[in-house]
Amino acid sequence: MYKADNVRDFAFGSSRKFIWDAMGVKIEGSPVPTVMAMSYYPKEANPLYGHLSTEAVAHTLRVYSKHTIPYPYPVAISVEASNGMEYPMICFNYGRPEKDGTYSERVKYGMLGVIIHEVGHNFFPMIVNSDERQWTWMDEGLNSFCQFLAEQEWDRNFPSNGGQARNIVGYMKADKEVQNPIMTNSESIIRFGPNAYTKPATALNILRETVMGRELFDFAFREYARRWAFKHPTPYDLFRTMEDASGIDLDWYWRGWFFTTDNVDISLDAVTEFRLDTKNPEVEKPLASKRSKEQLERDVTYQNNKRDIAATAVERNEALKDFYNTYDPNAPAPTDKDRYEKYIAGLGPKERAIIEAKKNYYQLDLSNEGGLVMPLVLKFEFEDGTSEIQRIPAEIWRMNDKKISKVFAFAKPVKQVILEPQEETADVNVENNYYPRRPIPSRFEVFKQEGFTRGASMGSKPMQQAQQQKKPTAAIN
Ligand SMILES: [Zn+2]
Repeated sequence: MYKADNVRDFAFGSSRKFIWDAMGVKIEGSPVPTVMAMSYYPKEANPLYGHLSTEAVAHTLRVYSKHTIPYPYPVAISVEASNGMEYPMICFNYGRPEKDGTYSERVKYGMLGVIIHEVGHNFFPMIVNSDERQWTWMDEGLNSFCQFLAEQEWDRNFPSNGGQARNIVGYMKADKEVQNPIMTNSESIIRFGPNAYTKPATALNILRETVMGRELFDFAFREYARRWAFKHPTPYDLFRTMEDASGIDLDWYWRGWFFTTDNVDISLDAVTEFRLDTKNPEVEKPLASKRSKEQLERDVTYQNNKRDIAATAVERNEALKDFYNTYDPNAPAPTDKDRYEKYIAGLGPKERAIIEAKKNYYQLDLSNEGGLVMPLVLKFEFEDGTSEIQRIPAEIWRMNDKKISKVFAFAKPVKQVILEPQEETADVNVENNYYPRRPIPSRFEVFKQEGFTRGASMGSKPMQQAQQQKKPTAAIN
């Protein structure tokens, strides 16, 4: 007889060929002292399944428990199968090598990804019991998000599909005709993969990395899992819990990312440099003198006359000159210093500090082309080769969600401003993210520069080739 508590479904696997392995996992806070992570697989799934499956189950339980609630069931089982499917405590995952025991990178990471995903479904929707038929994204999206966290904690170079903002750009900039808002009933979704899995997973990762920060996000997300374990949350329960557990108003974020098909395309339209007029004759007069000389040197008539007029009247005849032929209006005059000292004395300490700071001021004009308001992540590259990143919360858009301006002050002169330098907000158009504008390599050039993409190399069989090279060849005798 089989018995299980707090489950909403069941499944079993049976085969006389099953190899059965298991390991104990201690989960802090779990009502079960030692959870057993297990795998069932035929010998044809080795060496891959025997090497990695049970470890991947244990890893999933640890990482998900850390980000949600401690795993409450006594076992978690991964059964080798032709596809991926989830049930309480048991799931079915592919992962079979070639007959010679080698396997491609695609099969290895595909297997790890599917095991993490299907074991992860224990948390969403088996424990946090949302309605899959109404809101697929509530289990698939939240699970894909946690899957991304677990994959990246398994291997820093894990080729994850969901999570990273750049991976959702293709979908979000596609024709709106083939998109639905995430908040669409499951029966009506056009493209399940990006809509219910990747986009909500990415939206949560952006909340974590860019909008809320990891500490606050992780606390609020755990709180959602804790409050709604073995209950039936709706999307609004997730939205409200994330807000009231963190104390952050996220209505704008849910509205944009979950209820519309808008995308992120913030344009850095202009950067205007402002110089403070110091009124100090020793600073301002040499500057004015330099500027008027430069203006004269640029002037076409002045330049052509230098070539065509051998000598002007005053050059031919010194007697025509008077005071104003040698007078420099930009030369410091005796009265200047007095006037400046009076001016400084009339200022308050605040104004004086601004003058003494000797800052360079830059006004940035930005516009919202894609519809979604987002925090601004700005990288300032200075003329001396150093750089600095500044993060401005999305509230900057609250009075005008189409156009904004903001002034920044730096001790060093700025050479280049880059919007979204760490590819974290899924900005669909990077051409308008640089000021001054930068040529963006075309798709063809990018491909050439980077060589083969990860996806392309995954289909090849380097493991098999390496093994064949090691074998002595039969043709010798
Ligand atoms: Zn799933």
